[in-house]
Amino acid sequence: MPDSKNRNFVQVAVATPLRNFFTYSVPKSLAGELRSGQLVEVPFGKKMCRGIIYEFCDRPEAGKFSIKPIAQIVEHEPVCNSAMLRTLKWASDYYLTPPGEMIFAALPPRFRKRGAANGIKATLTASLERKLEVDQIAEIKKRAPLQAKLLESLNQEIRVDVSSLAFLGSSVRQALHALEQKGLVRLERETRRREPESPDLPLPDEVVSLNPQQTQALACLTGALEKDEYAAFLLHGVTGSGKTEVYLRAIDHALALGKDAILLVPEISLTPQLLSRVTGRFGRLVAVLHSGLSQGERLDEWRRLQRHQARVAVGARSAVFAPVRKLGILVIDEEHDSSYKQSERLVYNGRDLGMVRALQEQACVLLGTATPSVESYSNASKGRSKLIVLPQRVQQRALPQIEIVDLKKELPDPIERGHTVGSVLADALAKTLDRGEQAILFLNRRGYSSFALCKDCGQSIRCTNCSVALVHHRAEQRLKCHYCGLNIALPKKCPSCESGRIQMFGLGTQKCEEEVLRRFPGVRLIRLDSDSTSRRGALHKMLSKFAKREADVLIGTQMVTKGHDMPGVTLVGVLLADLSLHFPDFRAGERTFQLLVQVAGRAGRGDKPGRVVIQTLLPEHESIVLATRYDLEEFYRQELNRREGLGYPPFRRLLLVRVAHPNKQTASELAQRVAKSFQAESRGQIQLLGPVVSPLAKIRGRYRYQMLVKSPTVEALHQVALIVQRRIRAPKDAKILFDVDPVDML
Ligand code: ADP
Ligand code: ZN
Ligand code: ZN
Repeated sequence: MPDSKNRNFVQVAVATPLRNFFTYSVPKSLAGELRSGQLVEVPFGKKMCRGIIYEFCDRPEAGKFSIKPIAQIVEHEPVCNSAMLRTLKWASDYYLTPPGEMIFAALPPRFRKRGAANGIKATLTASLERKLEVDQIAEIKKRAPLQAKLLESLNQEIRVDVSSLAFLGSSVRQALHALEQKGLVRLERETRRREPESPDLPLPDEVVSLNPQQTQALACLTGALEKDEYAAFLLHGVTGSGKTEVYLRAIDHALALGKDAILLVPEISLTPQLLSRVTGRFGRLVAVLHSGLSQGERLDEWRRLQRHQARVAVGARSAVFAPVRKLGILVIDEEHDSSYKQSERLVYNGRDLGMVRALQEQACVLLGTATPSVESYSNASKGRSKLIVLPQRVQQRALPQIEIVDLKKELPDPIERGHTVGSVLADALAKTLDRGEQAILFLNRRGYSSFALCKDCGQSIRCTNCSVALVHHRAEQRLKCHYCGLNIALPKKCPSCESGRIQMFGLGTQKCEEEVLRRFPGVRLIRLDSDSTSRRGALHKMLSKFAKREADVLIGTQMVTKGHDMPGVTLVGVLLADLSLHFPDFRAGERTFQLLVQVAGRAGRGDKPGRVVIQTLLPEHESIVLATRYDLEEFYRQELNRREGLGYPPFRRLLLVRVAHPNKQTASELAQRVAKSFQAESRGQIQLLGPVVSPLAKIRGRYRYQMLVKSPTVEALHQVALIVQRRIRAPKDAKILFDVDPVDML
């Protein structure tokens, strides 16, 4: 920050949800000691609060508020360097988030609270022995409300630092011990840094030499690293093309140049193999940041990076804030993954912020994937990032052949009959098992599946304005569009083919598991979904069992599509590819395409070729057909056309505003008020869709309504949204979320 300014006043980002920086004076006792990025304590209202010094400023105009002095410096060493402060200021403006909230979100949670220990020391942590259902908690609530409250908090996070629960009152520890006695909660005292969990998975052989394409890709990156300038790359490498090896060598090169690195992964628990490869390569230089850490552990890892003891930060989206000293390269693996976007509490996109951070720090940013997001693809074609392609699998292995099976023909009535595996897939599975090879069966059933489906033509009933599936509202027997509010009676006939056989649809992994066990007696099967993996460590155990070939079939949800490298898998079956097409989301087609290419990529990664069978009721749908041909270019061409026509990103900027309140009427009225405010301010620049009931109409006792704001430019969007934000007075207990660049449309 410039030194020419008056050094008697500072702007401070205070840990409050208020929209501004606050001005404080520098007391004589601290003259010459303050620096931007320092953690300080300041009087705020009647309390003392933690804050971060943003910059020195001129004497503010005399106003009604008297200017108070900084109370004390908590840490002399700044906790944010100036580039990081710039990035966070940018994020605060861009995501319409108060600067204090944004800056403290980037720091270990301990820094926010006064009196919390900031050093490395033992902490008591609590975790659930197993995940609990809402009604189990409700049962406990009758007798022990505090215990129920604790269980609720613990249900949200994997591990919680007990001291962070102090706000629930003085009997917290007692209640936790009671829960421990009941076998519901586990309490652990941690005195030292845990080594990153290293899962018991067979690692691939050390890669001795890169193939020519990898060599070329690496050369682009090392060339850029040597220049000390911002450079953005999109590494589009087909599944099994050896992207990870390129990441690792690029990171290695950065380290050799005295620079540090960050590697972002979608969900750390789902990528145990990648994690072991990174720690295997860089050992103690690695700091792993993930949500499974207690606050104390998170602080420890953060300190190791700050002190330059660790130089490679690995983690999910929040690791984009890792305090590496001199950022050389920021790698974002599986950049298309929607989990980079956080849309609860604090909104930001780790991938997009990663690009901004790299720009601020004149570093390289590398987005890697086999299925680029439409946005990143479009950025690359506009020259905003440089495209690097790995068009082939390593060692000339072939991409698996993908076949489409029309379920309408295979199973005349798939919904009523108990079968989910058709004859082609069953036959392929039998052969795979006979050969002693392994298979993955994938069923997408995230979210809810209450949409209306025609049993004859396979189409879901869609909104004529928005091109998304309409959602079935059981109570009213009506179909609604969750974007524009279209609301129609459940039609008697299918609008596409006039058939009368319309059915609400739903299907689950458990049902499928039962069927496979019944039809293939003796098969060794593992089911992977959020129910079967809720126990801590369960996921790693299951994956490692499968990798060691102690099971033949892995059946599961999205979790099975992520980057697993299991050479024994020669068959991948997709039980019903259409499911993700029916989400009320403009990205449904893109998601489906990506999921299919990714899951297919799990087959044939060893010496034996792979085969993929996709069952669908929509064998002609472009997302499915183009995925089977691996025709990315055609897919993007069509998808970009469609988005341009309908006014979706990257052609328009979106803001999703969601309100929630325990009272339905209040929520609905608030949504109306927000919408009116947008309309009043729009000046013809923006377009408003809604408000409508959110697809997930009620969550945790709150009714939810939402609206979508479309704008040709992000500036216009910000301008209007800021006015609305200032104007709206939300009633008590209401939540209003402004989600810029929304990903979660539910
Ligand atoms: P991707 O991330 O592109 O799907 P991976 O990086 O997981 O691919 O690589 C797939 C497999 O190929 C891994 O087992 C890896 O060890 C191996 N591999 C990578 N590069 C080479 C190479 N140059 N020669 C031989 N094997 C390689
Ligand atoms: Zn039909
Ligand atoms: Zn609509």
